[in-house]
Amino acid sequence: MAAFIQILNFIYPPRCAACGADFGLDANVRVCASCLAKVEPLPAPLCEVCGGPMESAAGNERRCARCAATPPSFRRARSIARYRPSAEDDPASLPALIRRHKYGLDQAVGRALAEYLGPSLPLDRGDLDMVVPVPLHRRRLWWRGFNQAALLACEVARRLHLPIETGVLTRVRATNPQTYRHHDDRLRNVRRAFDAPKPLRIAGKRILLVDDVMTTGATVEECARTLLDAGAQAVDVFTLARVL
Ligand SMILES: [Zn+2]
Ligand SMILES: [Zn+2]
Repeated sequence: MAAFIQILNFIYPPRCAACGADFGLDANVRVCASCLAKVEPLPAPLCEVCGGPMESAAGNERRCARCAATPPSFRRARSIARYRPSAEDDPASLPALIRRHKYGLDQAVGRALAEYLGPSLPLDRGDLDMVVPVPLHRRRLWWRGFNQAALLACEVARRLHLPIETGVLTRVRATNPQTYRHHDDRLRNVRRAFDAPKPLRIAGKRILLVDDVMTTGATVEECARTLLDAGAQAVDVFTLARVL
């Protein structure tokens, strides 16, 4: 990984991956402070299950209406930043950066996304055993060259001192890009798209599933269900950003 980053520094002069500001010779950061400061936090209070916004702050209910009506397969989901789709119009915003990254147009931003994780993760490693990235289909992986979820998962695993397992969850069916469709459409789109080919490695394990963006939660729900069906004990979800 270190050699890879050195090569990237050589190929891509050190500039802010979001706004393009020049860093001079300081190549240790990928995103400038003013771009990091633009990140929108998630609006409180948050649902203790899916990490999404609550309809109201009143009462004792700690789950949102959707989680109360249909509890997800995952134990809990947490994110760092709000992904406001309209912010994609600002090329220096995190949503624009993720979008450029997702469609393979700017491979230098892989490490930049990790910088948006900030100093402390909203996660407790105490009840987790391993980190697993949401996989890409191999065709898209070949086209894009790398999986941004795996880059984030590496950084999360490093910080939590947990092992990362990339082969325990695979994408067996290419799915249509999930631009902002309805939750039910998205669930249909990802159904049976994943497989857990190494059940012995995940049996009884508590897994932290990592992706770059959570939209309706359909993808992580399907991943969680696949891992649980294969014998995992529990699945938590962590994404850098969440569409709201
Ligand atoms: Zn910047
Ligand atoms: Zn919820």
